[in-house]
Amino acid sequence: LSRRINYQGPRDELWALAETFDSMIGRLEASFERQRQFVQDASHELRTPLAAIRTNIEVTEMDPDATLEEYRELVATIKSQTERLTRLSEDLLLLTNEEGARVEREPVDLGAIAGDVIAELQPLAASRGVALRLDARADTEVLASPDLLHRCVLNLVDNAIKYSGEGATVTVRLLDAGPSGRVEVEDNGPGIPAEALPHIFDRFFRVDKGRSRREGGTGLGLAIVQELIRAMGGNVGVRSAPGTGSTFWIELPKAPAPGAEEPGRLRSS
Ligand code: ADP
Repeated sequence: LSRRINYQGPRDELWALAETFDSMIGRLEASFERQRQFVQDASHELRTPLAAIRTNIEVTEMDPDATLEEYRELVATIKSQTERLTRLSEDLLLLTNEEGARVEREPVDLGAIAGDVIAELQPLAASRGVALRLDARADTEVLASPDLLHRCVLNLVDNAIKYSGEGATVTVRLLDAGPSGRVEVEDNGPGIPAEALPHIFDRFFRVDKGRSRREGGTGLGLAIVQELIRAMGGNVGVRSAPGTGSTFWIELPKAPAPGAEEPGRLRSS
């Protein structure tokens, strides 16, 4: 304790205060470290497509006999890498904007969201030889932002189609989970290794980096899903066993029955 502070109160109180400060500083340090790591990972992800563009331009420039076909390939590379950069910057913006932002919630019909997502992704499923089906065991209204919830369910179904591959079945299941409505996205794809499961919702985590890149993934999809669902007062999780498949789930609080409570007085987290 500093001798400059003339503190007259009981010593216990002071220790309690010192301990509180200590744990606050510890949490702040951990939070700075997470931010630093995030910025470092994000810069790395942004540098990769930029380096690919640059290398391709340099190689073509240095070749005096480069053909029209080679220039066309160059343009195609630049186009796909630019698309990748666009997706990355959109995902990064979404992650940083939603962080701590208050999300407006309203009653949303889970069946309608699931139906929209399935209709939207049916062509992708068909092109990959994946059967996509709805198993609506309960039709629940939950409290959510319709756009953000749509985005989350879309993300899970998109992953299930892309990572399960030819011949797989992806089922979107709607369940009643007591105080919550539940959406499950089940696939019978390769599953996720046990050691990867605890990290699956981490920013930039991928089980197979090359595969994710080829699919145009940013490694931010599941992190976004988790942050958005939590911001809406819900929760997410996954069950998976290698060789059997994965089931990702989202739970959101049910909307109160009409007239049960004033919408304006709903508590938002
Ligand atoms: P990405 O942009 O790489 O798809 P995500 O955050 O959406 O990023 O997913 C992270 C990683 O989790 C993926 O790269 C993939 O390895 C794994 N993954 C996600 N969904 C599934 C699934 N349904 N089956 C198997 N692996 C999955």
